[in-house]
Amino acid sequence: MSHAGRIIGIPGLEIERVVRRKGIEVWAKPVHRPPCKHCQGDGLRIKATYLRTVKHTRQGNQVMTLHLRVPKYHCISCKRYFRHAFTGIRPRYRASEAYRLEVFETHDGGVTERKLSLTHQISPATRALVSAPYQPEAL
Ligand SMILES: [Zn+2]
Repeated sequence: MSHAGRIIGIPGLEIERVVRRKGIEVWAKPVHRPPCKHCQGDGLRIKATYLRTVKHTRQGNQVMTLHLRVPKYHCISCKRYFRHAFTGIRPRYRASEAYRLEVFETHDGGVTERKLSLTHQISPATRALVSAPYQPEAL
């Protein structure tokens, strides 16, 4: 894994750009194309690419936000479509598993929602989404 990859802690990402403002903003894309998740075929072409933004872990007191390029693949063998899956980030969630665990543990340790909204830059509504009961991702 590259140096930047180690900092982020999510394998298989190529870092394109890092901007440090109030927090740390990281733009990244997948390094490899996976096999087809339906038939394991490797004849994939990219149908479209989406941008997905998720909150990730904190470095010191700065929140890291990931802007991920998410390819949508079309399998030439089975003709089906699927989106690239990232290790440690579940589909449709706006925060990585590492971030969700961090928020969950911090809140569980007695930190109030008001404090969390300051340290993790999230509103109570978002926090409810982020800290839904944590279950380790099955890999
Ligand atoms: Zn396929």
